[in-house]
Amino acid sequence: MAVLRLVLGDQLSDGLSALEGLEPGVDTVLMAEVRDEATYVRHHKQKIALTFAAMRNHAERLAARGVRVRYVRIDDPDNSGSITGELDRVLEGGGYDRVVATECGEWRLAEHLAGFAEGARLPVEIREDRRFLCSHDRFRRWASGKSQLRMEFFYREMRRETGLLMDGAQPEGGRWNYDAENRKKLPRGVTPPARLRTPPNATTRVAIADVERLFGDHFGSLEAFGWPTTAAEAEAVLAHFLEVILPSFGDWQDAMAENQPWMWHGLISTSLNLGLLDPLDVCRRAEAVYRAGRAPLNAVEGFIRQILGWREFVRGIYWLKAPEYRVRNFLDADRALPWFYWSGETDMACVADAVKTTRDNAYAHHIQRLMVTGNLALLLGVHPDAVDDWYMAVYADAYEWVEMPNTRGMALFADGGIVGSKPYAASGAYIDRMSDYCGGCRYDVKSKSGDAACPFNRLYWGFLERNRGRLRDNVRLAMPYRTLDGFGEARRAALAAEAEACRTLLGATPRD
Ligand SMILES: Cc1cc2nc3c(=O)[nH]c(=O)nc-3n(C[C@H](O)[C@H](O)[C@H](O)COP(=O)(O)OP(=O)(O)OC[C@H]3O[C@@H](n4cnc5c(N)ncnc54)[C@H](O)[C@@H]3O)c2cc1C
Ligand code: SF4
Repeated sequence: MAVLRLVLGDQLSDGLSALEGLEPGVDTVLMAEVRDEATYVRHHKQKIALTFAAMRNHAERLAARGVRVRYVRIDDPDNSGSITGELDRVLEGGGYDRVVATECGEWRLAEHLAGFAEGARLPVEIREDRRFLCSHDRFRRWASGKSQLRMEFFYREMRRETGLLMDGAQPEGGRWNYDAENRKKLPRGVTPPARLRTPPNATTRVAIADVERLFGDHFGSLEAFGWPTTAAEAEAVLAHFLEVILPSFGDWQDAMAENQPWMWHGLISTSLNLGLLDPLDVCRRAEAVYRAGRAPLNAVEGFIRQILGWREFVRGIYWLKAPEYRVRNFLDADRALPWFYWSGETDMACVADAVKTTRDNAYAHHIQRLMVTGNLALLLGVHPDAVDDWYMAVYADAYEWVEMPNTRGMALFADGGIVGSKPYAASGAYIDRMSDYCGGCRYDVKSKSGDAACPFNRLYWGFLERNRGRLRDNVRLAMPYRTLDGFGEARRAALAAEAEACRTLLGATPRD
């Protein structure tokens, strides 16, 4: 009897566990574009187009290899709208003796699938997703008994385990982490190299048109769509990055520049998250570039740490703490998300640029996400649910397992210090140091109060004052709190009032 094999939209890897043992011509692969997944958050149009296009391209490739694929398009009149509904529809016809799937990346869908498996009349086997470098069990064992879970120590263990950038038992070059060398500001006159973007192939063009027709009212524009939608296209983007961009990745990793959305970043998160690239292979190839003397250690270590360290670490945290992680709000943040997060209509040059690239490209690089839009939401005290919804809705690489620990944990400190040891709160001075935004901004980055002052400055001390009870004992904040305490009571009250006025001015009003 035949096996029905489920392949989800972010499981587009040849080596997927659900496909192990597949008998072409006997088994059937089920792939379905469903409304539940496209709309449980109102995803950016490019995210939906990318997913549908990559799924369709993958299905065509499987079919060309003789695999029977049951592919359900979003506009199929009989489409039930959900993954479990589509499973029911196939199974109604009979002819299968079991269902095989790979575990879902997101808790919500994993719950649905577990419910389906419980009620199904035939065996449902849910296999581990082996495309990650650290299994759930492995992460649980690492976390067990630790009072604090720090990415740096997890990362070192992963280095030892994979042998990546190791010199025997020691880290290559004698240090585990070269972050201190990766915080350079972009000098005047240095511009990022041109990037390889992928012109949509015929299948992708149809997916883009479908999304414009069916999800035209979602956020974002499809015009500049340039994401790889096949493994071959993803490989071309990676190869270009490794040879041309990687050598300078470390130097400018934290830098920002107006109208420079890509800087020296990899542009590979969409491909990794869809399964078009394999994380271990990406890390090994980056290491090979270093070993061949074509990129320095600070660049390659910094890059590998993002994938082997951060990406695996946040996934581990998500599954260790879900579902309770999804409601964490350590700072009791309660404000609404200002409208300019969607419209981009703000005089804050740094925020306007971050929202513009987000709308046009469904992308902003890490420092824009963390230190511009994330930092501002933190300082304003926006409710984590609203911020989570925004990050899930606006990026082409958004999946809850990676988005949520980054947003709730790293950017908002809503998890109380699981992902990071302190909030990434910063005044305008940080953005001024790391970018060219402030020179052309209507606000004055040197000024601390009043309508003309940089809002990040107006908000910073008020944030610390407002959260004194929750953050005062954090050793990593001892210095700013000492400074704040030195201001005296009257000035502290004035700073709190300044921040409050700024919150209202920017539209971060109490949520209904
Ligand atoms: C608030 C916030 C929300 C985020 N939401 C997402 C998300 O929904 N999906 C997502 O993939 N990443 C998310 N990130 C992490 C990171 O910003 C993106 O992975 C990165 O910007 C993708 O662009 P790139 O491929 O050019 O990355 P590069 O800078 O070139 O980094 C290389 C790769 O490392 C991995 N990586 C880097 N930083 C992180 C990180 N902090 N966590 C996990 N992986 C990382 C990514 O796979 C990335 O492709 C978020 C970060 C923040 C601060
Ligand atoms: S002055 Fe403030 S708001 Fe304007 S660009 Fe600089 S940091 Fe951003």
